[in-house]
Amino acid sequence: MNDFDLVILGGGSGGYACALRGAQLGLSVVLIEQDKVGGTCLHRGCIPTKALLHAGEVADNARHASDFGVNAEFISIDMLAVNAYKDGVISKLYKGLQGLVKSRNITTVEGHGRLVAQNQVEVNGTVYTGKNVVLATGSYAKTLPGLEIDGTQIITSNEAMALDYVPKSAIVLGGGVIGCEFASVWNSFGSDVTIVEGLPRLIALEDETSSKQLERAYRKRGIKFEVGVKFASATKGPEGVTITLENGATHTADVLLVAVGRGPVSANLGYEEAGITMDRGYILVDNKCRTNVPGIWAVGDLIPTLQLAHVGFAEGILVAEEIAGLNPRPINYDGVPRVTYSEPEVASVGLTTAQAKERGYEIVEINYDLAGNGKANILKTSGSVKLIAQKDGPVLGVHMVGSRVGELLAEGQLIYNWEATANDVAPFIHAHPTLSEALGEAHLALAGKPLHAHG
Ligand SMILES: Cc1cc2nc3c(=O)[nH]c(=O)nc-3n(C[C@H](O)[C@H](O)[C@H](O)COP(=O)(O)OP(=O)(O)OC[C@H]3O[C@@H](n4cnc5c(N)ncnc54)[C@H](O)[C@@H]3O)c2cc1C
Repeated sequence: MNDFDLVILGGGSGGYACALRGAQLGLSVVLIEQDKVGGTCLHRGCIPTKALLHAGEVADNARHASDFGVNAEFISIDMLAVNAYKDGVISKLYKGLQGLVKSRNITTVEGHGRLVAQNQVEVNGTVYTGKNVVLATGSYAKTLPGLEIDGTQIITSNEAMALDYVPKSAIVLGGGVIGCEFASVWNSFGSDVTIVEGLPRLIALEDETSSKQLERAYRKRGIKFEVGVKFASATKGPEGVTITLENGATHTADVLLVAVGRGPVSANLGYEEAGITMDRGYILVDNKCRTNVPGIWAVGDLIPTLQLAHVGFAEGILVAEEIAGLNPRPINYDGVPRVTYSEPEVASVGLTTAQAKERGYEIVEINYDLAGNGKANILKTSGSVKLIAQKDGPVLGVHMVGSRVGELLAEGQLIYNWEATANDVAPFIHAHPTLSEALGEAHLALAGKPLHAHG
């Protein structure tokens, strides 16, 4: 009875997407999860952080209401109520997901699983055998050597999203996506925030112009940051946590959020013993997420692709479809949309200028300033839409900064993934007044017929 087409270890974005698609395709599926189906994204990642960011946006709206002629006052943040709102969103989605998994006749097993043979996973003494085994055990928040997470003063995103108070001051170690999102939340909630980043700029994986604009916006919001300097040590005292940087500078705050990246959950799970090829704990796969061991696949944060929920979904679906014989197209990772959900948002798809040059493209670029966009003026947001295109060829990259620009990325990704040229996009009419007009205007300008663009 414990024989399945698909044995899936880990019920996060990658694992449950694989289970849902596999079951839809008629495969018998067992989904093994030691905690809660939905994984990091639903319970400790995407959803809770975005709820906190939305609460922050509401706080900022109250604070700046008079800019719009509205008499309102920002009084304070009630973290218990914020958490109740956030947890309410999670629990509604969690219930929905549990119902969905059940309705597809997926067998679910609660417990810690371990790969014990090429086609077998053991949970609490019971062995589940699969024609295929999909490993989807996800990732954990890393720290630095000598920097111990105590869960109260020195914390990771796990604790940060469950705090029942607003820290008066916070140091965020790591200016990547997760670090910048928490810096944005806490600033909105009224904390004094300092980000420390070892690389030369915030959100260093994004195009340089996006980093510059985010840094400018953060300066304006009073979020402090030091970039290009490495962490040396941290000590705890009555005043809070003090960190010392390699340049000798020190910062003290109530809490230190360590947001220095996430590592794969792959230790002691039988992966090495099964002969799976790995690199620094990540499982290596081909373009269909196959490991080197026949019948074993891996998806999500466990493999060295972009650590995003929608990438996990896509990889899970890819594996299910490949197993079911649909021969799906491999994922083009350059075409994955990426959003930093801070205020302002940073959204991108395709190549950065540096990547396009590295790959030998002759490029043209346009930077359309949101100052020329009606809706951006109404919202009082600033930023831009930057396009990178191959000379006389398709758009290679779309990079946007500004409030709500994450919502524009749906169009940006179609443009990139359909290899559209500026002339393909320019004739499309964008509703007025919307932020999406900025994308339309940027393509008009790139096609040599700017309407509202200056210069
Ligand atoms: C703070 C934060 C914010 C984020 N925000 C976003 C965002 O806005 N957008 C976005 O796209 N991505 C975001 N991410 C990333 C996203 O959460 C991950 O990319 C995604 O969850 C990866 O899915 P996964 O299935 O690979 O792993 P996970 O979601 O980590 O799931 C792995 C599951 O496996 C289970 N498991 C592990 N080992 C075992 C075992 N031995 N036996 C049984 N079960 C096991 C775990 O309990 C877990 O539920 C965020 C992440 C964090 C931390």
